[in-house]
Amino acid sequence: MKLSIKEEDQLEELHLKHSKHLNQLESTQLIIKEALNTLGYTREIFELLKEPLRTLTVRIPIRMDNGNVKIFTGYRSQHNDSVGPTKGGVRFHPDVTEEEVKALSIWMTLKCGIANIPYGGGKGGIICDPREMSFGEIERLSRGYVRAISQIVGPTKDIPAPDVFTNSQVMAWMMDEYSRIREFDSPGFITGKPLVLGGSHGRETATARGVAICIEEAAKHKNIELKKAKVVIQGFGNAGSYLAKFLNESGAKIIGISDAYGALYDEDGLDINSLLDKRDSFGTVTNLFKNTITNQELLELPCDILVPAAISNQITVKNAAKIKAEIVVEAANGPTTMEATQILSQRNVLLIPDVLASSGGVIVSYFEWVQNNLGYYWSEEEVSSKLRTKLIEAFNHVIETAALHKIDNRLAAYMVGSRKMAEASKFRGWV
Ligand code: GLU
Repeated sequence: MKLSIKEEDQLEELHLKHSKHLNQLESTQLIIKEALNTLGYTREIFELLKEPLRTLTVRIPIRMDNGNVKIFTGYRSQHNDSVGPTKGGVRFHPDVTEEEVKALSIWMTLKCGIANIPYGGGKGGIICDPREMSFGEIERLSRGYVRAISQIVGPTKDIPAPDVFTNSQVMAWMMDEYSRIREFDSPGFITGKPLVLGGSHGRETATARGVAICIEEAAKHKNIELKKAKVVIQGFGNAGSYLAKFLNESGAKIIGISDAYGALYDEDGLDINSLLDKRDSFGTVTNLFKNTITNQELLELPCDILVPAAISNQITVKNAAKIKAEIVVEAANGPTTMEATQILSQRNVLLIPDVLASSGGVIVSYFEWVQNNLGYYWSEEEVSSKLRTKLIEAFNHVIETAALHKIDNRLAAYMVGSRKMAEASKFRGWV
């Protein structure tokens, strides 16, 4: 039976669309529904895939440096493990919500499907602000989180990784805690580790490398010479700052960058190397300058390529018509709303969606996990050439699917990303 969107469903969708602002989970569900429908899958498959199979909420008591105990709330969401173990990062951020973590775990499934790696999607998050915590407090929180979720994670179950405001040091603490609980060394429990603890060459820069590859491919499609291109990057964290470095090295002019507090603009190109030296570990750099512009102004600057590499919901119905870039490459998760995607696509802006553009991180995480399982480690060149091959394959698959079905790249990416999981769930006899 082909999935038929019944009249009630259409009413329900219209109601959802117009009566309130859709949250990330609801918009993701609408696009998954459309993707599965276009692929001809049954309603049961949508029912299975619209929510994660499992979401655990944990409360983590931590002794703070001032002697008081503070209780933190964290989540781990596992979307679908029909293809293999679930996989995805853990973010430390004050705005983390259960809804967001669930949506992010679904996006991880899509990323793994698009990149054709044998995982389903997972995601974790803790409501906290590491910018206001000491090193010791962050360590205790990282270890406490692993103790709280240890039953449902593991090298063949669910494999965490870095995300917003977590890094290789946090991964090292988490791996150490997990290894102590299990009483054996478990490097394959988590990826994004320091090199000396079984990390992979190229993992630290992988998300930015992947975005840079997508930018090169997208520029070819739009006949833009990268050396002459003007680029704006929103965000100067792991993805944004390495991307600025790589694009700067390839001759592109970075005319705007931002952090959570403001943005810097110079139409002749910013001095990226000096900014990289000055930023702190959260990517904050604008506090050193007087003449800053807002993040909103940054997004609307005249440029060829715009890269939102910060947080979600940045390009919305309010500013989509004012975006001047010809190419938008989403390095962040969920920076463009569903309505804004439609506006950009009508205006013929080439949008490379997050689930494709930011998949470099999880691709090299997969390589890290394979190396941990083998106990044999690859060179930097080996990792980077394998990453390029996988990403170009994924890029072409999405662009060709969009052209074939005459649909936007986001819907095409959802179709490519959900097909393998739908097939695997069918073969397992789940639907
Ligand atoms: N947090 C990254 C992402 O959102 C990487 C996940 C991973 O490496 O597993 O794609």
